[in-house]
Amino acid sequence: ENFAVGYGGMVELENVVGGESRILVFVRVRPVSKKEKEIGSRCCVKITNRRDVYLSEFANENDYLRLNRIRGRHFTFDASFTDSATQQEVYLTTTSELVEAVLQGRNGSVFCYGATGAGKTYTMLGTLENPGVMVLAIKDLFGKIRQRSCDGSHVVHLSYLEVYNETVRDLLSPGRPLVLREDKQGIVAAGLTQYRAYSTDEVMFCSVLVMALLQQGNQNRTTEPTRANETSSRSHAILQVVVEYRVRDSSMNVVNRVGKLSLIDLAGSERALATDQRTLRSIEGANINRSLLALSSCINALVEGKKHIPYRNSKLTQLLKDSLGGTCNTVMIANISPSILSFSETQNTIHWADRAKEIRLKVSDANEDLLPLPEIENDQAKLILELEKENR
Ligand code: ADP
Ligand code: MG
Repeated sequence: ENFAVGYGGMVELENVVGGESRILVFVRVRPVSKKEKEIGSRCCVKITNRRDVYLSEFANENDYLRLNRIRGRHFTFDASFTDSATQQEVYLTTTSELVEAVLQGRNGSVFCYGATGAGKTYTMLGTLENPGVMVLAIKDLFGKIRQRSCDGSHVVHLSYLEVYNETVRDLLSPGRPLVLREDKQGIVAAGLTQYRAYSTDEVMFCSVLVMALLQQGNQNRTTEPTRANETSSRSHAILQVVVEYRVRDSSMNVVNRVGKLSLIDLAGSERALATDQRTLRSIEGANINRSLLALSSCINALVEGKKHIPYRNSKLTQLLKDSLGGTCNTVMIANISPSILSFSETQNTIHWADRAKEIRLKVSDANEDLLPLPEIENDQAKLILELEKENR
């Protein structure tokens, strides 16, 4: 097997170039919330070692014996994080190798799946004190670029968008919905705002500024109160980081390499219709289910090794087309609550994650073409200045 996961889930991706890999699946349990504590609800999840999750509806032996139910189930993932795992730990285990791969001209994607309140946004965005995967990935990416080149040969493009109600919107510059179209790089959202930064930039991306940018983007996410949960997020947020650079190939031609990292904070996976039956909610719910259902269909098709993967069934899967199969390294983080109050949602999430483990991916060599990059102008599109402008 050309795939290896070491103790603690440190993932080695170097040796899968050009070979076959599978989606990496992680589970993260968030701490018990204040509300759950107040109710005194017990836990239904136990991380038994660094990889195994034990899920049981019943607190004590007698209950499941009396009710003639199954005792509980063990699931194994590439790594499982307890409620005390740090953001840094989660980033290093799940995503840092993808950042490395993107710098070699490959695509990678990380997506958080789980019910509303399970910790997806905390994992992806985090807080100023505890920045999440998106922020740590960008910081790490820039650190690595700086180590590698100081000649301006790397250009990084950053965009942040959402899919809400089967509509694609720009989170960095809210306005009219964006139209998806296909070009030679795959599916692109026409007119999407792109922040650019060069490896010669004096001031590199710093966590605080990236955080400010993304937090502001998150405020543009469409969230509406529902009866069940006021912070229910019905939108999928996608951060795309594209790295372009020039290298010489074996015959000394200058080639342009492009690597793309997509970091996705999916909408809540709970059944939307259970929370509110009224029309608008139902329509939204149907569309959210459409995107998540389409994602499930794609995953099933990939699992079964089907030739046709139904990416076209939703906006989300169109956008994720190059992030789920093909030339991509894919990571899924399943977020769950530890509380029995969320048992059925946790069970759904864990089953979904367990299924996703079966996906096999063909990881191809680096994306490159012989077209030279446009000449780089160093005074162009300074990210930091734009950020400062945005924050004024
Ligand atoms: P989701 O995006 O899945 O709806 P959130 O990320 O907003 O859920 O998490 C719900 C609440 O739990 C938030 O207040 C968040 O700060 C908190 N939370 C989630 N995961 C963690 C964690 N690992 N450590 C500390 N707090 C967390
Ligand atoms: Mg959220």
